[in-house]
Amino acid sequence: MYKQIFFDFDSTLVHAETLDLLADLAGVGPEVRRLTEASMNGEIPIEAVFEKKLAMIAPSHAMISRLHEIHPPFVEGVQELVAILHRLGKDVYILTSNFGLIVAPYAEELAIRPERVIANDLFHDEQGNYLGMDASNALAHTDGKRIMIDRHIKNKQEAVMIGDSVTDLACQGSVKTFIGFAGVVARESVRAQADIFVEEPNALALLPHLLTKQELDAL
Ligand SMILES: [Mg+2]
Repeated sequence: MYKQIFFDFDSTLVHAETLDLLADLAGVGPEVRRLTEASMNGEIPIEAVFEKKLAMIAPSHAMISRLHEIHPPFVEGVQELVAILHRLGKDVYILTSNFGLIVAPYAEELAIRPERVIANDLFHDEQGNYLGMDASNALAHTDGKRIMIDRHIKNKQEAVMIGDSVTDLACQGSVKTFIGFAGVVARESVRAQADIFVEEPNALALLPHLLTKQELDAL
């Protein structure tokens, strides 16, 4: 059945919007959160706010290290879920408009290979001060995840995307199935259009939707 399994990162694999947490560290939390919510719900396009948000946060190496120390937790069941998928030989990806530097330690903990982490890039000077983000990366745009999934997909019929927001939903036409995962936050705009909508707070609830009966029986 599914061979390539794409997960969104924030509010899908981890119980947080990590850029919002970085905004808190930078003292611009409320302003940035307002922009995040509006873009996740599809009220304003990502490209209208993303670079602005990042400029407000200005995430330095030191701030990102602090975030990693705080280590917002994985969604319950995520480590077990990914371990099972790996054991069954599935190719597990993280597809996020977040940044490689921020996501990397989580990917490592989940044993997701670096080449299966599809993320944007941040630029820093030699002292680790924030210089900017790669605004030319497709992921800085509303349909960026769809563009990236199209680049990485091997067989649409064997691909599934799982995420919480409208930017994840935009991948729907490029994969066999889009699963809206509301374990962290339920978005009505996603619920309305997702092929499958999973509301349990534990990510293991995704398993029956990802595996064949045969695969499930063999666990
Ligand atoms: Mg998300």
